[in-house]
Amino acid sequence: MKITSLETYSLSAPLPQVVRTSTHAISQVSEVIVKLTTDAGHVGIGEGHGPFLFQGPEGLRTVNAILKTITPLVVGQDPFDAERIWQDLFALTYTSVRGIPSVARQARVLVTAMSAIDIALWDLKGKATGLPVHALLGGKLRDKVPAYVTGFYYRDGEKPDDVVREADMYTKLGYRTLKAKVGGLTPEADAERVGRIRKAVGKDVALMLDANQGWNLPTAIRAAELCEPHGVFWLEDPMPWFDERRTLARLKEATRIPIAAGETEYTPFGLRTMVTEGLVDYLIIDSTWAGGLTTWRKAAVLAELYQIPMAAHHDPQIHVHAVAASPTGFILESFADATRDPLWFELFRERPQIVDGFMAVPDQPGLGLELRDETLEKYGVKIG
Ligand SMILES: [Mg+2]
Repeated sequence: MKITSLETYSLSAPLPQVVRTSTHAISQVSEVIVKLTTDAGHVGIGEGHGPFLFQGPEGLRTVNAILKTITPLVVGQDPFDAERIWQDLFALTYTSVRGIPSVARQARVLVTAMSAIDIALWDLKGKATGLPVHALLGGKLRDKVPAYVTGFYYRDGEKPDDVVREADMYTKLGYRTLKAKVGGLTPEADAERVGRIRKAVGKDVALMLDANQGWNLPTAIRAAELCEPHGVFWLEDPMPWFDERRTLARLKEATRIPIAAGETEYTPFGLRTMVTEGLVDYLIIDSTWAGGLTTWRKAAVLAELYQIPMAAHHDPQIHVHAVAASPTGFILESFADATRDPLWFELFRERPQIVDGFMAVPDQPGLGLELRDETLEKYGVKIG
């Protein structure tokens, strides 16, 4: 079987209201979709996010240009050679490959582009064999996977009751694990806000906090101390990547709150030292960002060897297969508010449901996803 074509779709959806983390203002969500067709008539789909996620058309243009450059390393190949294709594409981060010059200076965008390709390859392998992707990853270890909801972004004009209403919406949908943004206010004001959320959800809901690398070490220590009495399940990406190893070690001496990390790179290469030195308690990987499900598989080995639970970042419809098949696979991230991620709500003919905080592991061939053409049309961005 050979791949005969690689098509890309660039999507960008504006949000009705800007939402903020400690470090980003999000006014739109973007993604790139790759469709691979084979001479056997199968079509595989893959999704790619990356540093351009919140940038709109400009970021999409760069990914698209790189996809064009690397297409010759994909078209003509057998999808069952997915690891070799991954090795060829990843090698472009430092060298030239079969006449294609190195993309070292845009390595992160390259990894985004290869994420979409790699995921489409796994979808293709599933469709060609009639097996779900989790079966190809070794087989599911569980029939349903827990999913938490990320919310409580900062919004302009936020009133104290807004987080209470939001908490209500999530708990009514059956979620038992919620994640709130921190780092955008003073530690005192953030802790007060976290306390309001805790009061609204009661003591039986797990509450994670994500600082999106917005604190320095003294602020992180102070904020952790102030938030701890509200019961914190994990503290995610407290500080910037450039000194994360040293600062995480110091933060861990100062707090008992477990640390989750991922945003720095989302690759096992970038996170390796943090895992091997025991600096993170939860490993967060995003296959749509870090090089596809092939990358996830590499991280899953690392996570099993060091017994670190693995959490997925974004795209539960893809990661449900990976978390289900990983020995330390733990939890999915999801959005439950259409004003945060319209693409999640509109992209699929049948959106996988999250019921009482769990997503059932699908058993259809491949990823088990079908795109809605209307959505590709509606949010499609013309490139070039
Ligand atoms: Mg995060």
